[in-house]
Amino acid sequence: MRILVVEDEEGLAESLRRGLSADGHWVDIAHDGHRGLDLARTGSYDAVLLDLMLPGLSGYEICSRIRADGDPTPVLMLTAKDGEYDEAEGLDSGADDYLTKPFSFVVLAARLRALARRATAATAAAGAAGGAGTLQAGDLVLDPAGRRCRRGTHDIELTARELGVLACLMERPGTAVAKQDILDQVWDTPHTIDPNIVEVYVSSLRKKIDAPFGRRSIRTVHGTGYRMAPDGG
Ligand code: CA
Repeated sequence: MRILVVEDEEGLAESLRRGLSADGHWVDIAHDGHRGLDLARTGSYDAVLLDLMLPGLSGYEICSRIRADGDPTPVLMLTAKDGEYDEAEGLDSGADDYLTKPFSFVVLAARLRALARRATAATAAAGAAGGAGTLQAGDLVLDPAGRRCRRGTHDIELTARELGVLACLMERPGTAVAKQDILDQVWDTPHTIDPNIVEVYVSSLRKKIDAPFGRRSIRTVHGTGYRMAPDGG
């Protein structure tokens, strides 16, 4: 993979370069936010490792800007300490995952592989199905392979995780889907995560696909999870 590392701690950036190169990846490094954004915008990377606190532009800002360009490259945020990363802000910025420093290289490599696997699976599915994998509920349309979502004629930007959660629900319209089932399908290490995290993603999905349109497509099924209204709400 071609990986962009945006990290101002030069020692850490260098050890990431060494580790990732040893794993067979092609690595570029940027030590500040502006350079990081410029490189990310070349669109030539398979994944971006983005430090949160950077000189110039923050990781959040960089991520928001590349997502605003319509660039779906997987982004893994690196954060200095527990609590520094704001899950909601990360979601808004379009990050796919995050990792708190200090982290082990083995964990980082596993997370990167998972992100890449999802991206590759999406591309392969698009190639194999020719876009036939599109999911629809009324005027709500989701193309998981192309990572696109729209309501009527409005394009909606979703993060990889939001897209995964929505796909889970849209694959089974009218059926109650348990939070744990969503967790198992969308997260790589579901056993280490509180199923209630799904609520955070459903809440951010509702703000994007329902609230602006005065609709209610994702219904809460108390004690279980969620159900997609077959007519799109
Ligand atoms: Ca930093």
